[in-house]
Amino acid sequence: MINTKEPSFRDSVNLMFDRAVAKMDMPPGLAEKIKVCNATYTVRFGVRLRGAIHTFTGYRSVHSEHMEPVKGGIRYSMGVNQDEVEALAALMTFKCALVETPFGGSKGGLCIDPREYNEHELEQITRRFTYELAKRDLIHPSQNVPAPDMGTGEREMAWMADQYRRMNTTDINASACVTGKPLNAGGIAGRVEATGRGVQYALQEFFRHPEDRAAANLSGTLDGKKVIVQGLGNVGYHAAHFLSTEDGALITGIIERDGALVNEAGMNIDEVRNWIAHNDGVKGCPEGEFVENGALVLENDCDILVPAALEGVIHLGNAENIKAKLIIEAANGPVTAGADQILQKKGVVIIPDMYANAGGVTVSYFEWVKNLSHIRFGRMQRRQEEGRHQLLVDELNRVMGKAGLPEVLSDTFTERYLKGAGELELVRSGLDDTMRAAYGSMREVWHSRNDVSDLRVAAYLVSIGRVTDSYKAKGL
Ligand code: GLU
Repeated sequence: MINTKEPSFRDSVNLMFDRAVAKMDMPPGLAEKIKVCNATYTVRFGVRLRGAIHTFTGYRSVHSEHMEPVKGGIRYSMGVNQDEVEALAALMTFKCALVETPFGGSKGGLCIDPREYNEHELEQITRRFTYELAKRDLIHPSQNVPAPDMGTGEREMAWMADQYRRMNTTDINASACVTGKPLNAGGIAGRVEATGRGVQYALQEFFRHPEDRAAANLSGTLDGKKVIVQGLGNVGYHAAHFLSTEDGALITGIIERDGALVNEAGMNIDEVRNWIAHNDGVKGCPEGEFVENGALVLENDCDILVPAALEGVIHLGNAENIKAKLIIEAANGPVTAGADQILQKKGVVIIPDMYANAGGVTVSYFEWVKNLSHIRFGRMQRRQEEGRHQLLVDELNRVMGKAGLPEVLSDTFTERYLKGAGELELVRSGLDDTMRAAYGSMREVWHSRNDVSDLRVAAYLVSIGRVTDSYKAKGL
């Protein structure tokens, strides 16, 4: 399906990196040093399953150690290969720099179709993979901290953390060896929704700037905007759910493995997700009309396209037909380097992956800090904050009553004002702040430099600049 003239994913990321570096003044040789992956470890291991030894191939690639630990997810997919993990590890370096999480970039993967194994088998495979990585410090709280990615989630992270703990029984910080764990196993509130939430915050921030909206030929707010989402996994689901239930966006297209659903009036995301869970696909779901060739729906008319599945889905073969005004890359690398150029010429604005899906690693950072500090966010201050708010409310009521004012503070106001922030509220606030600040740094470059016409180059300029500064600070 993908045009044969298309470079590999890794080459595509390199091409985009080169485009940005050409606009920078860097010490000789440094750009090359930043571009290359420092190391990629390949492991082949056997697990006895169903009476036979099965051999699996996994990778952990470390792109840049300018900051440690290095960070990035582990995916379980048949598409995993060295080129892919290296491309994804490079994107992690730039993503972490852009949203100012103090990590280098890494990524891992296991070449496996997780749907072919039962839970017990997956646990055996995951524990063995973890063992292989941990004994080389490729899982380690201060060296390399994995997280969920495609095909993995809280369950796998819990197994990994437990396996690491068994191998490092005296390490008090063992649970910081991996993020994305369940709440009852050292996780943090809001991590599961984080990447989709970040996509929502990114769009909200984009729509706050009239100049930026105009660049995409859009006006107004997210309310009523037509959105097509590709992939209703963890990221796509949460993004679509929040955009439709909180911002009034209409989800007019949903593309899944077996085909797509379309409905110009907008669909109820939770109904569709429920349907998928019971029917293994979207076919037959009454929320929309079924389209067998799902990829074609990428080309439907809409305001915002949210590719939230695989890399390379918008390529030389279909870029010209894309009608969306704005593309937000919820997945990593969904637009190839060639497609990027075509879309730019067409005037489509692209909010790049390294920013758009950075919500995951941002909340992973909060989880890692929580694990190292061994205390839940908000535990010390929540009730104290509520007490101070209560003081103010009581005093206002007293003074207003004394002045004979008929209107006292409304119950809803009082209730909302009195509620101190719990962990979830703090995580969302930290994520929103991160997404706004990172957007600000990108947009500043986008609008202030005549030689920068898109957000991707702007994002690369900001993040490569930060990585360069940290190399310089080290005296390299
Ligand atoms: N796998 C996610 C990503 O690509 C999350 C990484 C993390 O939390 O470390 O950004």
